[in-house]
Amino acid sequence: MVELVADCGSCAGLCCVALPFTRSADFAFSKEGGEPCRNLDSGFGCSVHDRLRPLGMVGCTTYDCFGAGQAVTQRLYDGQTWRSHPEQSRDMFEVFGSMRRLHEMLFYLSDALGALSDDTATTDLRARLTAMVATTEALTHGTPYDVLGVDVDAHRLEVAPLLREASDSARGQRARGADHARVRRDDLAGQDLSGLDLRAADLRGKLMIGADLRGSDLRGADLLGADLRGTDVAGADLRDALFLTQMQVNAARGDAATRFSEALTRPSHWS
Ligand code: SF4
Repeated sequence: MVELVADCGSCAGLCCVALPFTRSADFAFSKEGGEPCRNLDSGFGCSVHDRLRPLGMVGCTTYDCFGAGQAVTQRLYDGQTWRSHPEQSRDMFEVFGSMRRLHEMLFYLSDALGALSDDTATTDLRARLTAMVATTEALTHGTPYDVLGVDVDAHRLEVAPLLREASDSARGQRARGADHARVRRDDLAGQDLSGLDLRAADLRGKLMIGADLRGSDLRGADLLGADLRGTDVAGADLRDALFLTQMQVNAARGDAATRFSEALTRPSHWS
């Protein structure tokens, strides 16, 4: 089973080098892809890890490689790094990009399997999801050049309908909230959605930046790709929300009363 939780201690700081970012509300400065971040230390750790938000590096706290970093560094490159083998760095960064997308798909597939009821009505779907997990895992193995040769976009087109089917099935078996009509629009940025009953709602891909979801019931809602930057989820119930990632949780604002799955961690910046 592929490890989908990031282990930064087993990675060579790939995300802090390979990815570009632009000075914005999320980043205090810009850097190019392939350029080591000025805050990356000699041991591939972040020298400002405990101060990222006050220093304006919010974007770093809302990024997750889903374990792709250690997979590339340890399994594919056997501990070699872009520092020890600079001639390989370009390939390494490209492999990391593909691997991260494959790991993200594995995370969603695993979440879909966990959300489905364990009865005969879902037997076929669970079998197809399990087969897709095996296919996707196989794509993450081999040599770096094997991974570089994967058509990740094409694979994603095979995974997406399965995730949709799993979402429809899982949400169809749950109690439906009374306020789905309030969230039909794709752009919900800044909207007052507090106190709503959004159980099993379809919120995937919705723009919810800065929306007010305080006290809302989102149990079993599909949040795949929903933009939760600055979304206020204080007191909201996100238990069993589908496809909710730690990145989304980190990007939102919550409090001690916000409820979510035990697999997720309450961000330290929440009050
Ligand atoms: S600030 Fe820290 S976490 Fe963010 S890219 Fe730089 S080294 Fe990485």
